[in-house]
Amino acid sequence: MMSWTATVRYDLEPAPGGLALVQDLLNTLSAGRPREADLLENAEDARAWLDQALRSWSDATHRPAPAIDLTAEDAQGLRDFRHDLNRLVGTQTPDASSEPGPVASLMTLPTALRLDEQGHIHAEPRGTGWRQVASLALIEAYQAQCTDTLRRLKTCRNPRCATAFYDRSRNNSGVWHDVRVCGNAANLRNYRARKRAGAGADQA
Ligand SMILES: [Zn+2]
Repeated sequence: MMSWTATVRYDLEPAPGGLALVQDLLNTLSAGRPREADLLENAEDARAWLDQALRSWSDATHRPAPAIDLTAEDAQGLRDFRHDLNRLVGTQTPDASSEPGPVASLMTLPTALRLDEQGHIHAEPRGTGWRQVASLALIEAYQAQCTDTLRRLKTCRNPRCATAFYDRSRNNSGVWHDVRVCGNAANLRNYRARKRAGAGADQA
């Protein structure tokens, strides 16, 4: 059964197909109110998340899930990769042009291209541990980039939220994971700030 545990705990709709794995990895971070746990906090939690995520990925893509084991070092590696991935996805949002956020570490991850007897070409993750997970995530991100859907995967503009959502709006203009939760709070802050500025101008 498909269940993107990290994403659904924030009441978010999973991205289509295998891209949901990238989103779910991003949503392992601690966010929300009350604050949810970091699902990559230690090796045990990271393994539990990964087992479920790989099953869901297999259901979504109709491909066999790779067997990947994670050590405590891998949990750390995966948290670092998540950080880089977060910045990569952050550069997709509309106002990113004013504040370019280059990905800190340019990474190279092993993959294999396999041609099957039906003439289909498959990209497959290679390596072990966190690198293998990262390889699979980058394959999915790359495929989404080729079909121009990667720019719909975004992180909420509210820095205290930062959950990853898939923007299904027609013109891909969304910046909040939920406009009623994070958008309204920001609008209210702006409104109050403008009102204060306006009151100051009146007195001058
Ligand atoms: Zn949000």
